[in-house]
Amino acid sequence: NPALTQFGDQMSRLTGVRAIMKDIIETLQAGSGQEFINLSAGNPVILPEVEQLWRDYTTELLSSSDYGEVVCRYGSSQGYQPLIDAVVKDFNRRYGLKLTARNVLITPGSQTLYFFAANAFGGYTTSGELKQIILPLSPDYTGYGGITLVPEALFAYKPALDIDAPAHRFKYRPDFSQLTITENTGCVLFSRPCNPTGNVLTDDEVRKIAALAAPYNVPVLIDSAYAPPFPALNFTEMTPLFGDNILHCMSLSKAGLPGERIGIAIGDERMIQVLECFQTNMCIHSSRYGQAIAARAIESGTLADIATNVIRPYYQKKFDVVENTLDSSMPKDLPWFLHRGEGAIFAWLWLEDLPITDWEFYQQLKQVGVIVVPGSSFFPGLREEWAHKQQCIRISLTATDPEIETGMQRLAKVVEQVYLKA
Ligand code: PLP
Repeated sequence: NPALTQFGDQMSRLTGVRAIMKDIIETLQAGSGQEFINLSAGNPVILPEVEQLWRDYTTELLSSSDYGEVVCRYGSSQGYQPLIDAVVKDFNRRYGLKLTARNVLITPGSQTLYFFAANAFGGYTTSGELKQIILPLSPDYTGYGGITLVPEALFAYKPALDIDAPAHRFKYRPDFSQLTITENTGCVLFSRPCNPTGNVLTDDEVRKIAALAAPYNVPVLIDSAYAPPFPALNFTEMTPLFGDNILHCMSLSKAGLPGERIGIAIGDERMIQVLECFQTNMCIHSSRYGQAIAARAIESGTLADIATNVIRPYYQKKFDVVENTLDSSMPKDLPWFLHRGEGAIFAWLWLEDLPITDWEFYQQLKQVGVIVVPGSSFFPGLREEWAHKQQCIRISLTATDPEIETGMQRLAKVVEQVYLKA
């Protein structure tokens, strides 16, 4: 084995959910003859209308005079100009902004964007001070666990819980009595809607976080991978918020283009430039083929239409199936709580006082042919002990209705047995 540096060692670790995915893939491939209902997937469903849209714009690109320019040449690090122009025009019209091309950066997927930001704004300064990357509400996206070269820089806050016990529902809130942003903060990051919980921070909560960060010029990255206008995977009203220290970060992955790796950052030109330089050093620029078809889909307005008329209702209906099946099959007297389904492509279930760990619960579900993701992988940066971390699971909304129904019915039986035995 080659000797590794600190960074080499850090980056060659499997973080969060990737470690569990290995177990899931091995389970699915084991060939034990058992059929599994897979409720673990993070990959979006290929919806026919969405695939057709990308196919149509690809056909258009293939026969256009731009083809050579797009595919056979390098471009600018900031991104393919027609895509940047389409984003500027769309956002200015939609949200009444005054963006120019300098406010936009295109990256190869949004994960890359968080990697750039986490390491440009978080970590050690030239004078040796540690700047923290703050996750204001844990749990959050497992991928944040691997974005920094300086793991001690990542710091997540425990949330406050809003519990509706009779309804078996709950919702996480940022705990403003704890959340602290100071001159030692490098950046703030959260997903809205949230993977894994489906939570949507309210407009007020977001404004409050941005206001705490503003006096220190701390960038606030709002991971909008599921937000409107595309993929518009919000099931509750929400307004994308912009501001001097806000970096609005988008992804086309949940709008049907995960394979092409397109991330979009919108924000103050000074933040955008820092990230653009990082990108030049790392990979020069994002794939131009994906950018060219995205430019057409955004410019025409088709992507936003498909998002609200096809993508959103598809997943919203799946959440209803989870909710209705749990309500009808879960034991009424046990402390189970489903997170309010406000968006994204997952449901998040909290089993309070679960007598076994989330990992053991995941193993027991496997025994009855159901695969979910144990929740403890979704608390990156949360260092303190908290029993809640071992009491949750993530349920993917990418399965079929009957699979979700059967999966939830089997889960309800396992829940009953597990609490009864204790
Ligand atoms: N942020 C969140 C909240 C996600 O769920 C994902 C992917 O699942 C990403 C970022 C990464 O997406 P991308 O494909 O744009 O890198």
